[in-house]
Amino acid sequence: MKCNTPDCLGSHAPREISHQVIYRERTVIIHGLPADVCPDCGDMVLTEETTIHLDGLLKATARSKSTVLTYECG
Ligand SMILES: [Zn+2]
Repeated sequence: MKCNTPDCLGSHAPREISHQVIYRERTVIIHGLPADVCPDCGDMVLTEETTIHLDGLLKATARSKSTVLTYECG
C-alpha cells in the first residue's frame, strides 16, 4: 500500500508496533498492535477492525489501573 504522506515514495508494510494513546486523560501503551507502517517516514495506518478492537480494549482498561496493554485478537 502506497504511503499517504505527500512526496513520500515509501510503501506501507504490516508490522506489530507499540503505540501510545491518550485515553480519558491517561496515557496507555499498547504492545503488539498490528498496523501498516511506512519504513521511510513512519506514517502508520490502522485497519478499521483494529481500531474497533482497540477501542474495546481501552474501554476495558479504563476500569482498571493498568496503563500497558497487549493487543490480543479474538
Ligand atoms: Zn511514508
